[in-house]
Amino acid sequence: MKQLKFTNRYQQLGNDFYQNQQPTSIKKPHLININPLMLNELDIDESTIDHEFFTDISSGNAMLEDAQPSSFIYAGHQFGHFVPQLGDGRAILLGEIQNKNGRYWELQLKGAGLTPFSRDGDGRAVLRSTIREYLCSEAMAALHIPTTRSLSIVGSEEKVFRENIETGSVMIRMSPSFIRFGSFELFASRGQHRQIKQLADFVIRHYYQDIDLRSTDYNPYQKWLEKVVNKTAELIAAWQAEGFAHGVMNTDNMSILGLTIDYGPFAFLDNYDSQFICNHSDHQGRYRFENQPSIAFWNLNCLARSVLDLMDVEEAKQALSGYEKDYNRYYLKLMQNKSGLFEKNDKQHEALIFSLLNIMQEQQVDYSLFFRKLADFEFDQVSRQANSDLLELFNDADTFNQWAGEYHQNLKSQPLSAEARKEKMNSINPKYILRNYIAQMIIERAEQQQDYAYLDQWLKVLQNPYDEHPEMAEYAGHPPAWAGQISVSCSS
Ligand code: AMP
Ligand code: MG
Repeated sequence: MKQLKFTNRYQQLGNDFYQNQQPTSIKKPHLININPLMLNELDIDESTIDHEFFTDISSGNAMLEDAQPSSFIYAGHQFGHFVPQLGDGRAILLGEIQNKNGRYWELQLKGAGLTPFSRDGDGRAVLRSTIREYLCSEAMAALHIPTTRSLSIVGSEEKVFRENIETGSVMIRMSPSFIRFGSFELFASRGQHRQIKQLADFVIRHYYQDIDLRSTDYNPYQKWLEKVVNKTAELIAAWQAEGFAHGVMNTDNMSILGLTIDYGPFAFLDNYDSQFICNHSDHQGRYRFENQPSIAFWNLNCLARSVLDLMDVEEAKQALSGYEKDYNRYYLKLMQNKSGLFEKNDKQHEALIFSLLNIMQEQQVDYSLFFRKLADFEFDQVSRQANSDLLELFNDADTFNQWAGEYHQNLKSQPLSAEARKEKMNSINPKYILRNYIAQMIIERAEQQQDYAYLDQWLKVLQNPYDEHPEMAEYAGHPPAWAGQISVSCSS
């Protein structure tokens, strides 16, 4: 850890883009978890870690020598309304590290105290919400959904006031970049034209390297916007296909790299419900599950408007116009794969998948449980019934059996054997997802019993969500009745 070398390319943009900010010490920090996968990304050998030193660094109580701690400034549309200035209110970038494979990672403390952008906040993050972000980032990565990552989590005795008194904690999260749509909106709203171009050039040069900024054959900025549109479509398609509800899709929570960022009141669907609202503070349901694709498009429009210095309106419209097609293509592909319909027959499969979702919605069928069980699908030609293991998920068996008959026909034209299909489907449909009730159990054990081994055990499971993990089998089934009572707000 001591030998980590920071490169800090973002700081070269100049101080219109960030403010230097030292973290504020936190009371009695103690290490809760280190994520071996990300240690490995940083080429750190776990056995060489001095835990006391690591705890001090990852709580913000000590600083690595060549770190240049700073908080970013940005703006954003929150629930449809423009807020001229937001910024990292409780996040402090330590710097950027290039690993031995040439990959760059930015390391950011979250919850390490006040910054110039804290507004009414206290700069802290409670243990509850930190555990949720820590585990979910890793769960998403394992599900192949683009996301920021988790390196470490520390707890403390620092009191933090939310609805109740809780304790503060700090996590280190990692991302190639933490730049958001709102970063561009800030400069656009202030008429800071030079900074808009500077930021776009920076993003293209470092993260969209296949675009030639000097090209005369095309407008590189339009090409870039087109790629952001495409990456965002791909991200949201993955959310929809895995049943992930983000909860706060404000433009300041939209990554310019198409990553899932800023985990708040998120949830994975239990029963399939297109109207699901995971954030109890979202009274209008603006960010309900089925709205996520169109909200992302709305957010992309905000981004496009803020870079109109760099292209004309027609070019921006052109870049945006690919969204719907990209999204539909990605989503259909993912759903075909989840359904074991690997060989193309798009039109027929699309109809089949949408009729399935309708049935699941009507009959309140558990989303991930269904797809995991679908690998074992069987259909009896004589009784025209699906296997009982699947049937028990539906309260109206006839409707499902009708669908199953059609599905069976489609499967027959697929070249894979039943065994091979099953194996492939089980590598696509997770057995374990971070349901809210599971997060709640982990949080309660951590808060009330200082049991952090349970968190570590779940980290390993969520990082390998397709494996069987027989010791955890009871958590691969239906959520318990009390899960319905969990309410998640923005408070974090
Ligand atoms: P979010 O939508 O949760 O990502 O946060 C919106 C804005 O509020 C961001 O600028 C955050 O940095 C800021 N914020 C959230 N919680 C706090 C806090 N406890 N202290 C300071 N700023 C906060
Ligand atoms: Mg945010």
